[in-house]
Amino acid sequence: MNILDGKKTAQFYKDTIAAEVAALRAKGSRKPHLVAILIGSNGASETYVASKVKACEQIGFESTLIRFETDVTEETLLAEVHRLNETADVDGILVQLPLPDHIREDTVTLAIDAEKDVDGFHPESLGRMLLGLPGYVPATPKGIMMLLDYYNVDTAGKHAVVIGRSSIVGSPMSVLLSRNSKPGNCTVTLTHSRTVDLRYHTLQADIIVAALGKPLFLTADMVKDGAVVIDVGITRMKDESLSKGYRICGDVDFDAVAPKCSWITPVPGGVGAMTIAALMQNTLEAFKRRIKV
Ligand code: NAD
Repeated sequence: MNILDGKKTAQFYKDTIAAEVAALRAKGSRKPHLVAILIGSNGASETYVASKVKACEQIGFESTLIRFETDVTEETLLAEVHRLNETADVDGILVQLPLPDHIREDTVTLAIDAEKDVDGFHPESLGRMLLGLPGYVPATPKGIMMLLDYYNVDTAGKHAVVIGRSSIVGSPMSVLLSRNSKPGNCTVTLTHSRTVDLRYHTLQADIIVAALGKPLFLTADMVKDGAVVIDVGITRMKDESLSKGYRICGDVDFDAVAPKCSWITPVPGGVGAMTIAALMQNTLEAFKRRIKV
């Protein structure tokens, strides 16, 4: 069993981006600028946004965090997004999910200028991904592809089973794995909450991507020997023995599944770290397009 070390790999990609930024800065360029909008004070969202801001600092990006109270109106939020769309030195805009119930996610996603859509959630970004055109790929599936690439995991002709069909993880993941590219060229089965006999499917998988948000869901009896297992899940589980009161749990029963795998991602230190690196990559691309490098 080998570990797909997201933390180490993310550092590699971040170092590469930092070197590119330093070279651009030496030629007199401004810094790439990412703006994150955070609504309310959800603990997990706070942590994600803090990691993104920290990564920006590490690699020489400028970052701005804009906060709104939970009762912010959709109108106010959209006005802020439109202002950022028009602000020349803003390269990337992200609105941290989930949003309060009274704000429509689709409306906010559509409001972000597709040129600044570094999360890759805008229909234009998703359409470009489907067509194999240059554009922003959602950060989590993009980060997984970067991880598979870094470790040169052989995916061509393999059967990949993706668990979960969300528009930000499972669905784009299925598209990327099936693309005629390296990594890619998998035969993909996309499974979801209405899939009958999921275990039947996972047992045939050479590659499993678990992205459903149910802690320890994928058990050893669902995985064939030699499989590659990618754990996307992040759930906070109560744990009084830790000072923060919780521990992060993936969708895979790591201790039981890992011995059967050829490759597996840990949680934490797997996909989460790669998501941040992929977001930074998207922001650098947005910046380079805007300054026309
Ligand atoms: P989501 O709730 O939008 O989607 C979950 C999907 O799982 C749905 O498509 C549903 O059909 C499917 N599902 C639910 N129960 C199932 C079952 N029993 N069998 C098969 N499929 C089932 O979730 P999401 O936004 O895609 O996130 C999934 C998980 O990944 C969450 O834990 C989330 O926190 C985590 N996540 C992690 C990162 C990261 O950077 N590591 C990024 C995004 C999401």
